[in-house]
Amino acid sequence: MAGKTMEFKTEVSRLLDIVIHSLYSNKDIFLRELISNASDAIDKVRYEGLTDPSKYEGGTDWKIKLTADKTAGTLTVSDNGIGMDYDEVIRTLGTIAHSGTKEFMKMLEEKKGQDAVELIGQFGVGFYSAFMVADKVTVVTRKAGTGDNDAVKWESAADGKFTIEKTEKAARGTDVILHLREDDKKYLEEWTLRELVRKYSDYIEHPVVMDIERSKTDADGKPTDEKEIKEETINSRKAIWLRDKSEITKEEYDDFYKHITHDFTAPMRTIHFKVEGTQEFSALLYIPERRPFDIIYKEYKSGPMLYVKRVQIMEHCEELLPPYLRFVKGVVESNDLPLNISREILQNNRHIEVMKKAVTKRVLDAIADMKKNDYDSFVKFSKEFGRILKEGLHYDFERRQTIADLLLFQSTKTEDGKFTSLDDYFMRMKPEQEEIYYILAASRAEAEASPYLEGLKERDIEVLIMTDDIDDIVISSLGEFKGKKFKSVAKGDITLGEADKEEKEKKKEEFGKLIEFVKDRLKDKVEDVRLSSRLKDSAVCLVAGDTDFDPHIEQMMKAMGEPYMKGKRTMEINPDHILFKEMNALFEKDKDAPELADYADILYDQALILEGAKPVDAGAFARRISALMARAIAK
Ligand code: ADP
Repeated sequence: MAGKTMEFKTEVSRLLDIVIHSLYSNKDIFLRELISNASDAIDKVRYEGLTDPSKYEGGTDWKIKLTADKTAGTLTVSDNGIGMDYDEVIRTLGTIAHSGTKEFMKMLEEKKGQDAVELIGQFGVGFYSAFMVADKVTVVTRKAGTGDNDAVKWESAADGKFTIEKTEKAARGTDVILHLREDDKKYLEEWTLRELVRKYSDYIEHPVVMDIERSKTDADGKPTDEKEIKEETINSRKAIWLRDKSEITKEEYDDFYKHITHDFTAPMRTIHFKVEGTQEFSALLYIPERRPFDIIYKEYKSGPMLYVKRVQIMEHCEELLPPYLRFVKGVVESNDLPLNISREILQNNRHIEVMKKAVTKRVLDAIADMKKNDYDSFVKFSKEFGRILKEGLHYDFERRQTIADLLLFQSTKTEDGKFTSLDDYFMRMKPEQEEIYYILAASRAEAEASPYLEGLKERDIEVLIMTDDIDDIVISSLGEFKGKKFKSVAKGDITLGEADKEEKEKKKEEFGKLIEFVKDRLKDKVEDVRLSSRLKDSAVCLVAGDTDFDPHIEQMMKAMGEPYMKGKRTMEINPDHILFKEMNALFEKDKDAPELADYADILYDQALILEGAKPVDAGAFARRISALMARAIAK
């Protein structure tokens, strides 16, 4: 039968035009698409043969073969799958069967560049992606269950038409022959093909094979000058995540982790689960032993690989994980998503939402399990990833109590380098203690030296020490734990129970007038002056208002040159300090004594220094101190 030339349906011509001109930066995907089609074709014949064994004629040695012919400049993707008959070829390779094609094409033509790429991803270019690398494509195909002479040859140069004719083919299946463009001859290289198969089609169930020329070996296994050609399978075929948990060894799990991450160290934790029912998906996830070195960079790609029906769709699907779990690696495979799914679609996809929820829950459960049953690993986990997980307190409102349970903190009761959970802190709280105290500091040493802790230490009240940059933000987001509010020891008034309140009232009578005097002297500098429950050894400290920035945060912002509103501080004085007793005595004797004003100024500057700030007028401060020393020496 003579060949026949036919026109493509207009939408095919337009699609081809767009594929060739706007997807050129994603050329590599053509191989994935063709291998995926071949794999589907094998799946189909495998299934049909179950009820009609004539379809198996020619064997069931399922295989996808890549043949690079450097002389002819062709790359052929062959399969022994279901094949197509004459009408099918015209139908499937001459039209686009998707509904809504016209609207889609219109949208596509209105968009340019990256937008078009995203849009086309939703739609799927499949077979036509071959034209990104080939200026001519020949398909020779023979439907399973038909004779040698029933094969069909289809050919097109993407110029608006194709030819179709009957031909001969010895075995069932399809050969897609790509006549590569001059610029795309790299797809003839063994190395390139191996790389692409590994990257995109490694876990395809059927073997992807290539004929590889190697030196023959002699009896001792040494290479000789003689060459031989051997068929090699170049994909690993192991979809480990689809296998049954009970059949997989720890070593296999670890190897797969190393394969996908290039990490040399085995993971800290492996999470493998399958969901069946209205939605079906499998996930194999890992928590690394160490924080990936590049996780701090903007370019870091988070999210597991996404597979759809054995085909890798994305190397990193960040839509499947909340950012605070960005250290998790692995793979998720869905049976419900379309093969060609774009980022745009991912963002509002119901299946993705359901998977993300399940993945998040399983990872948090695994961390909780470590905390309960493998505390040493949990501590290690916290050191590596606690800082990142903590972001969840701020960003995941729904799960913030769950996340809070999984965090560890240092405290005034933990040894250096040891930690407490919030739960344990909660259990140790004093009966009269209403709030969970914490201090923000650059380091544990800085926190321990802080005057804010003196009174609490004296009363044996535990204070959490927070040294991470985001602690201030996340603790405010968390707000409370088990009904107890968080309270920064550097902010607001602290009263430790009824007895403390009465004591303060008594002292207020004793020191009331002196406090008024100091307040008046410092009225431009401080909001208020009051007695303190915080202090024991230090004479004074400055305290921020409940709604102000924490002083530690102000220091950080200042260091980074960030603009901020410095809140006016309240100065607290320690009524038990000898200095106030002496000052009070002097004040009662002579409330106009000239030293008193000096002392008030020095107290304020001292408090600034204790807070980590500098006296506003360092010269004046030094002069006052010198005068004071001179007076003391002269006495
Ligand atoms: P999709 O795979 O998304 O349907 P394609 O453009 O890749 O879109 O393929 C269109 C159709 O052509 C397929 O649905 C299939 O029927 C047929 N086809 C493509 N490649 C093969 C193949 N290797 N063997 C048999 N049929 C194929």
